[in-house]
Amino acid sequence: MIPLTLQQVAQVTGGRVHPGGSDGAAAGLTVSGSVVTDSREVAPGGLYVARRGDHADGHDYLAAAADRGAVGALTNRESDVLPCVVLDEDPARLSPRPDRPPYDAVTRGFAALGREVVDRCTAAGGLRIVGITGSSGKTSTKDLMAQVLSGLGPTLAPEASYNSEVGVPLTVCRLTPDTAYLVAEMGASGAGHIAHLTTVAPPQVAVVLNVGSAHLGEFGSREAIGRAKAELVQSLPAGGLAVLNADDPVVAAMAGDAAAVGARTLLVGRGTNADLRAVDVTTDTRGRASCTVRGPGTPEEGVPVALRLVGEHHVGNALAVAAVAHEWGMPWEQVAQALGTAEARARWRMEVTERPDGLVVVNDAYNANPDSTAAALRALAAMRTPDGRLVAVLGGMLELGADSDAEHARVGALAAALGVDHLVTVGQLAEPAATAYLEGGGAEATFLPDRHEARAFLADHLGPADVVLLKSSRDSGLRLLGDELAGVG
Ligand code: ATP
Ligand code: MG
Repeated sequence: MIPLTLQQVAQVTGGRVHPGGSDGAAAGLTVSGSVVTDSREVAPGGLYVARRGDHADGHDYLAAAADRGAVGALTNRESDVLPCVVLDEDPARLSPRPDRPPYDAVTRGFAALGREVVDRCTAAGGLRIVGITGSSGKTSTKDLMAQVLSGLGPTLAPEASYNSEVGVPLTVCRLTPDTAYLVAEMGASGAGHIAHLTTVAPPQVAVVLNVGSAHLGEFGSREAIGRAKAELVQSLPAGGLAVLNADDPVVAAMAGDAAAVGARTLLVGRGTNADLRAVDVTTDTRGRASCTVRGPGTPEEGVPVALRLVGEHHVGNALAVAAVAHEWGMPWEQVAQALGTAEARARWRMEVTERPDGLVVVNDAYNANPDSTAAALRALAAMRTPDGRLVAVLGGMLELGADSDAEHARVGALAAALGVDHLVTVGQLAEPAATAYLEGGGAEATFLPDRHEARAFLADHLGPADVVLLKSSRDSGLRLLGDELAGVG
């Protein structure tokens, strides 16, 4: 983190410095190392943020943080083991779940600290911030965005999928005065969540990718999900820019939210209503998507873009990235070139491996919701080879609430319609997919109880010319089965 004394940390977070076991000079100590929430990641000179989590309380690890050389900790109580910036808690206003607003004192203090870093780095060099939200594709788009914006200047993006009230402050604490661009992934698990994140990293440009049925169980309805995502657009300053998916009516309607705060809107997509539009979308036999991009300032014939990313759904993500890069001054030719060289960074998202024997493994088992599963099945269908079969191995999609069976059935019916040759479901949750697949005229379905059975089954049933997709919500173990099949990892 940029150097701040514990006294300065206390000022911006509204806390007070408690000397811990130090000699009383704690307030003047300077945080020079990184800010972390996991005591095992503390490095000398760093600040340890002691959070109350679902299962553990970070305050139990203050001694561990001290042992590893933390300068101090952000806490909700005093401790004798190391200097603390103490933020008093009002138990009466705490929400029952630590990951829902109103957040606890440490989480709010951490947000304020993150904002201070953002403000100092903005004052130092004119930091530009893009916020990205959506039900699917945030991390993919974040990685693509970071690679493209790096062509304009030093760019910081979160590690992995750090998109929460913890991940966003952790990310911004890594800003340096010479960072020119910050790519902030913002996830919503309820109302007020994204609004909070925008107080930490206030974007000049907001990207909303889609409003799907991810976390439908928690939110209740698609409209509620839309309202939560619209908080990103509502946070824009006058003159800011909302980059909205033209093909998703709930997202496109957020142009109204942009107008209400005096921000501009650019609709991106494949439909004729898009300002920045992708036409002639194709995929090659490895599923990599290409298109021509036309919009304000592009040559009349459009700009050809050939992605290395697998699946047509990345065209929409790429359009959003193109819009932002162009907004910040990148010429179209450079945009196309940068999009064409960007690689997928996160593992288990449409990861394609061709085995020496010819079998193609598509491991997309990082996580799954109905939209990303549909996107993966469409990509699979595009990868058909003359002699092989298309095999889809689907585990359960979590967090769908009462719609779970119907949503699984919908992806099963889609697999049948797309001509998938064999659908394998793993676990009870996914079974309605295979049933609907068969009802929809699917050729062959197999119901398996777990990934161990799936491993044995696939070992016997896959042929060298086949293409096999693995897709599931996290923790099903299918991603590791995919690694085993592919011989990677
Ligand atoms: P999380 O909420 O878990 O952080 P995320 O929004 O960051 O998810 P990614 O990790 O980028 O999303 O992608 C999740 C899945 O969605 C992957 O399987 C990916 O291939 C697929 N995907 C990526 N972009 C889109 C899109 N625009 N529409 C539908 N599916 C997509
Ligand atoms: Mg993510």
